[in-house]
Amino acid sequence: MADKRDYYEILGLSKSASDQEIKKAYRQLAKKYHPDVNKEPGAEAKFKEINEAYEVLSDPTKKANYDQFGHAANDPNFGGFGGFNQADFGDFSDIFGSFFGGGFSSGATRNSNGPRRGQDRYMQMKVSFNEAVFGVNKTIKLDIDEVCDECHGSGAYSKDDIKVCDQCKGTGRVVTQQRTPFGVFQSQSVCSTCNGTGKKITRKCKKCHGEGSIHKHIDVEVKIPAGVDTGQQLRISGKGYKGSNGGPNGDLYIEIIVARHEHFMRDGKNIFIKIPISAIDAALGTSIDIPTVHGEVTLQIPAGTQPNQQFRLKNKGIKDLRSSTMGDQYVEVLVEIPTKLSKSEKELYEKLKAETKKEGRESVFEKFKKAFK
Ligand SMILES: [Zn+2]
Ligand SMILES: [Zn+2]
Repeated sequence: MADKRDYYEILGLSKSASDQEIKKAYRQLAKKYHPDVNKEPGAEAKFKEINEAYEVLSDPTKKANYDQFGHAANDPNFGGFGGFNQADFGDFSDIFGSFFGGGFSSGATRNSNGPRRGQDRYMQMKVSFNEAVFGVNKTIKLDIDEVCDECHGSGAYSKDDIKVCDQCKGTGRVVTQQRTPFGVFQSQSVCSTCNGTGKKITRKCKKCHGEGSIHKHIDVEVKIPAGVDTGQQLRISGKGYKGSNGGPNGDLYIEIIVARHEHFMRDGKNIFIKIPISAIDAALGTSIDIPTVHGEVTLQIPAGTQPNQQFRLKNKGIKDLRSSTMGDQYVEVLVEIPTKLSKSEKELYEKLKAETKKEGRESVFEKFKKAFK
């Protein structure tokens, strides 16, 4: 509260400003900082500030409270009872609409009386490893309320059947007054007669029976691009929850979950696989056909290959969605030592051991131990 600017200061006025001067200053500033007009950073915050100041200074009761108690009068905790609802900007958008030709596009969501875009909807979709690599089209079934194409969301049979609500005079809200030791406080609530639309429909649309929307079971084709990864979201425009008062639907967001593969491991655009080879193949070298998502690729394992050595198969990974470059597949070699030997195999290993000695080569362990001497 302490860092809040003075409302008169915001509008560039003195405390003795007349109602006319307040109105004039507000209109000039609101036009200047309207987010549709002014794209500078901070313009929107300024616009809100101007509106907040005007909401208070244009209302005789709120103005009197503000003049007497300052911002404290606006504090919901002030005196232990509810003050004004600061987040409620419904009022100024009405005023604003009157001199901006009714267009209040960016502020429309604030205005309970105007069209409101529906909420976004989220869901998750599991795809297989290969579907994520190559992309896939999936059909999902959705229960959705779509804007009625007959009445375009108004719920009325024709334009002439949309009248102003008697209860709230079209504002969509009713004002109630609360007497307190500090004066009369006003609070607003949504008009229960029209549910905040400010309208009365005298003859309902035949197709949607006045709902403004039609409940449908639809199939939606979802194109999942090649290279998609877990956590990435696809946006499907207009397939979210329904808007109100003729506002458009929200969007549908589908979060992708890529299933694990039994052998391939994925890290971004690269694929990793571990391949077992025998100690003999590692020592002598060999040629093996490695499975990749793009089919088998022959890999030359050179003689003297070490355990956990990695080989790269270029461009055998996954397409990167952002850069469109291809990833690689990395092959890690696991050298397997036999746990059981046949009699003749054992003999051959013994021969190999004798051969090493004859060559005058010390054992690897003896070589290692030298470091401790
Ligand atoms: Zn309709
Ligand atoms: Zn009403």
